[in-house]
Amino acid sequence: MNYINNKLSFDNKLIDSIAKKYGTPLYCYSFEKIKENITNFKKNFKSFSPLICFAVKSNTNIKILKEIKKFNIGADVVSIGELMKALKAGIKPQKIVFSGVGKTTKEIEYAVTKNILLINTESKSEILEIEKIAKKKRKIINIGIRLNPNTDAKTLSQISTGKKENKFGVNQKIFLQLVSYLKDSKYLNLKCLSVHIGSQILNHKPYENMLKVIDKIISKSNHKFEYIDLGGGMGIDYEHNNSKLNLKKYSKNIQKFLKKNNSKIIFEPGRSIIGNSAVLITKILYIKEGYKKDFVILDAAMNDLMRPALYGAKHRIMPSKKTKKLTKKSYEFVGPICESTDTFSIVKKYQKLNEKDFLVICDVGAYGTSLASNYNVRPKPTEILIKGSKIQVINKRQKISELM
Ligand SMILES: *Cc1c(COP(=O)(O)O)cnc(C)c1O
Repeated sequence: MNYINNKLSFDNKLIDSIAKKYGTPLYCYSFEKIKENITNFKKNFKSFSPLICFAVKSNTNIKILKEIKKFNIGADVVSIGELMKALKAGIKPQKIVFSGVGKTTKEIEYAVTKNILLINTESKSEILEIEKIAKKKRKIINIGIRLNPNTDAKTLSQISTGKKENKFGVNQKIFLQLVSYLKDSKYLNLKCLSVHIGSQILNHKPYENMLKVIDKIISKSNHKFEYIDLGGGMGIDYEHNNSKLNLKKYSKNIQKFLKKNNSKIIFEPGRSIIGNSAVLITKILYIKEGYKKDFVILDAAMNDLMRPALYGAKHRIMPSKKTKKLTKKSYEFVGPICESTDTFSIVKKYQKLNEKDFLVICDVGAYGTSLASNYNVRPKPTEILIKGSKIQVINKRQKISELM
């Protein structure tokens, strides 16, 4: 993304021209960026060639899944719908991991029929349910148990998942009980220990602590795990100040761990693959004077991009035309929805904006459209993918008539 003659372009396409051609709000992805992220991810972990399972919940667009699949990547799914979509995108069952705190009987049965790599379980009751299904189908099912390592991921509390008060996984005591229960199971094959301590993690220390916990419990369990699934959570640079996770350091820690434990590593990255590959282009509807600040009212809202309202997440906002004039007051960028949380950010110093100008909300590739809703009977936005010189519409704007 850069300015040429003060006009913003994304992947060599002028924001203003694509906004006018496809309408706003508009999600715009860069294939080049996705490719760069995957290449970079693979390069950092090359020494132990992990199985990379893309966390489908971060972006469920089938065209995006098809592009990602071409890089020999698997999928981490958390519902039957995501599993069906991953399969439809052509991802091989033997590269699919099914995670989630509570899978229904129907979901488990479907996963078993499709012979996916692993079902990662999160409770004793769920394990018993899977065993019942296996027995009925006379099939041996490969499972993992998700450990709650009680590690603080030092991220937003809303996206922290690895502390003992979180609903995810099982604690160490139960983990060991389950390992010993499964030793005698005729139908379940315990192949994997899985963890996922949270999302948007920027410091490698929590991962280092997590690896220590896993290492200890493996010794205690006296079980050979074919796979260690380390989950995802690798953070990206939303603030554009070089604050992303140091993958090299994380990789070094894993290499050390692997010297003692000879297992295949699985990763489930979502955000780090797709997060910075897209922008949300929006038009300024109105600018309204407020008390001590002016409200910039956009045509994009919390139904299009939920992260700020849901987690208090911050996304950088850039004008499509750069000028030197500054405003005296702060700007608050807001959507038009009747909710006080329908607000994107408050900025102190910003260039002067005008009604009808286009803006770009950055880094919306992950948990952008996958969290979008029809709240206020607002249609979901168009999505386009820039690939080389071509632009492909990968999702058409919903018609109001579809929402009737
Ligand atoms: C959400 C989730 C992921 C992906 O997290 P990112 O932060 O997008 O990398 C991976 N594994 C599990 C189990 C998840 O719930």
